[in-house]
Amino acid sequence: MSDSVKHIVNFSGGKDSTAMLLRMLEENVQVDEIIFCNVKATQQIGGELPEMYDYINKINNYIKQKYNKEITVLSQEKSFEDYFYTKKIRGKRKGQIYGFPALQGSWCNDRLKVRVLNQYLKTKENYISYIGIAADETERLKRLKSNECSMLEKWNMTEQDCLEFLRERRLENPLYKRRKRLGCWFCPKQNFATLKILKTEYPKLWEKLLQWQRDSPFPFKMNLTICDLDRRFTKEN
Ligand code: SF4
Repeated sequence: MSDSVKHIVNFSGGKDSTAMLLRMLEENVQVDEIIFCNVKATQQIGGELPEMYDYINKINNYIKQKYNKEITVLSQEKSFEDYFYTKKIRGKRKGQIYGFPALQGSWCNDRLKVRVLNQYLKTKENYISYIGIAADETERLKRLKSNECSMLEKWNMTEQDCLEFLRERRLENPLYKRRKRLGCWFCPKQNFATLKILKTEYPKLWEKLLQWQRDSPFPFKMNLTICDLDRRFTKEN
């Protein structure tokens, strides 16, 4: 392979991309860049929980000290909230704001992550993008493009193997203690348990969700608004 090819690791702070990155560095696999796509919830609030930003700093310090590598943070001007209040300019919902993304075919992943990533990668001429997809995520692996690759597949590392790999090095993300999946704190795809934690432990973020729900033309989840969930969690407590 030509030396001009850039080897770029997509790092999300999740167990799979973190385990892949650390093992690549441990085994001296070429890593030219490590990129993290930082979603903004609003212009003032990040899209990740505070513990995730602490974890990313911890991994960044670790790889800086041990391998002299650093994570490049990609960010974009517009936040989730900016898109949320953007009015549609065509179609039968013309004039209506985007509001909460649908569970299927949501607009947020494309606008907040994919576009930012593609814009950055467009500036690179020749690259391989390393994406942490575990060996047991067969459907996602099938969707990899020709210049994308997951070392986890080559190493036959499952999601569980990634967790154990990080645990052995005492570098696991503490958010996994109570969650199976990570993502934006306002993600409609998260389960009720993590939403309940959000209401109880991050009241300012929950208040933001309530405010968005009051303005959204759509419920947060199919047939369930944040106000419904708020009443339900209050009753349960
Ligand atoms: S984690 Fe959820 S809210 Fe965030 S971009 Fe992905 S689908 Fe959208």
